[in-house]
Amino acid sequence: MPSTTAKSKPQTKPQIKPQARPGQTYPSLINGKAVAGDLTPSPIFNPATGEVIAHTEMASGKIIDQAVAVAKEASPAWAATPALKRARIMFAYKELLERHLDDLALAISHQHGKTLADAKGEVARGIEVVEFACGIPHLLRGDFTPNVAHAVDSYSLRQPLGIVAGITPFNFPAMVPMWMFPIALACGNCFILKPSEKDPAAPALALELLHKAGLPPGVMSLVNGGKEAVNALLTHSDIAAISFVGSTHIAEYIYTTASKHGKRVQALGGAKNHMLVMPDADLDQSVDALMGAAFGSAGERCMAVSVAMTIDDATADRLVEKLTPKIEDIHIGGYDDPEAEMGPLISRDHKTKVLGYIEAGVGAGAKLVVDGRKFTRQGYEKNDTGGYFIGGSLFDQVKPNMSIYTDEIFAPVLSVVRCKSFDEATSLIDAHTYGNGAAIFTQNGDVARLFADRVRIGMVGVNVPIPVPVAFHSFGGWKRSLFGGHAMYGMEGVRFYTQLKTITARWPTAIGPENSKGAQFQFPS
Ligand code: NAD
Repeated sequence: MPSTTAKSKPQTKPQIKPQARPGQTYPSLINGKAVAGDLTPSPIFNPATGEVIAHTEMASGKIIDQAVAVAKEASPAWAATPALKRARIMFAYKELLERHLDDLALAISHQHGKTLADAKGEVARGIEVVEFACGIPHLLRGDFTPNVAHAVDSYSLRQPLGIVAGITPFNFPAMVPMWMFPIALACGNCFILKPSEKDPAAPALALELLHKAGLPPGVMSLVNGGKEAVNALLTHSDIAAISFVGSTHIAEYIYTTASKHGKRVQALGGAKNHMLVMPDADLDQSVDALMGAAFGSAGERCMAVSVAMTIDDATADRLVEKLTPKIEDIHIGGYDDPEAEMGPLISRDHKTKVLGYIEAGVGAGAKLVVDGRKFTRQGYEKNDTGGYFIGGSLFDQVKPNMSIYTDEIFAPVLSVVRCKSFDEATSLIDAHTYGNGAAIFTQNGDVARLFADRVRIGMVGVNVPIPVPVAFHSFGGWKRSLFGGHAMYGMEGVRFYTQLKTITARWPTAIGPENSKGAQFQFPS
């Protein structure tokens, strides 16, 4: 049977004005001031049209030095600022973010391509971390034990690291930076953000609002750039820690390079997330969950589900049958199409790579049930200037040795893998190189519990397809989805951005000079 394809829908009349002005550039923001780049600017595209809409100014190591020098100056006063005062800035920031949620979402949507509704969800999840950071006086409260020995008291506290840097990917230009800087700053660190050069508008606005909320200008800077800027951050002797989120290949490089330069590192990488649909699962619920998790944000999410698994052919058949018309029917459109459920991919290069994977899947013998390659947006049928759109694709009969299964495609391509048993399914999940997320859909509590306990995966969903933890838990995968062992935000974030100090104190007057035993050479007990 030949594969079918996603249908093109007429675009609803645009209701939203474009964001960037022609000729606009995004400089670095250091000490609250714009700093021009000193390398060739990088073009920013509207992924919905393929047009260049602005440029990112690119910084070299010299600009990183400037940002670090400013942070170094600001650091002692910020670290000494009471946590309560730092929390008050976070409270004001949360309010400003809520007030500007639509502006942030529009900035994201225009440069990234995801739908406005999706972008608003992203900002809302970022704000949750700011909310968590508002509790920093409580989170940093130390431990005190009086009289651990005669007239000796012990107390433990957590102190900031100093200057820390965050390097972030294109796919969540507001939320992923917010996984990092609210907690790092609230803990008393200075922060340097290096966002993706592909969509710098939202992080720039997020920093502007933070300064409006009262953050002293030198405490956080943003440097726009690429490899040169990143290398300068990884090797700078005044930077204590690096937080990274991006592809696995770069995450591994970041981890090894920054560790070699004595830094604490958390480097989150790519993913291949499985969803196991058990024979007893509510199939309609599972299909709806798969649609959002596989095709939302055009599959460009590190927690996107890209593999649906079954343990019996009957469930697989019904799943494919129910998914097919829904995938064909996804309303695909640009950021200015309010009806759109899915936008374009981020770039032409990425689209080419995705087309290559689909080709490889067909070549390897998987059954292409819905072919997203054939999708053309209505009104753009005759030329190729319609942006980086691709329809949703569905593969059935996918085998574990195929590249569409082994690799992160990062696109709206869903693979169905038919297993013969629960053990085979969980063994496959465990054998995969990535370990970010996995989900099970079932009505059987025992099976769900066994699945959650057994799989070697950082974040597990039970009847929840994208189990991104809330801000007071922590986000992090296993295996090649995370290097450095530190998950992000929640208490893991507080631990990552602080170091423990324990003070043991005795006051001579409390003992009295008459009780002094003189010098003692044995180990104190
Ligand atoms: P990417 O690795 O290409 O880029 C991430 C950051 O690294 C960017 O700031 C970029 O400028 C920088 N960078 C790129 N190439 C570099 C190089 N050679 N040297 C130094 N720095 C470099 O990732 P991306 O394409 O922006 O984002 C998509 C990837 O991010 C996917 O693999 C996705 O799974 C992953 N991701 C993971 C998580 C997670 O939590 N695990 C979350 C979001 C995205």
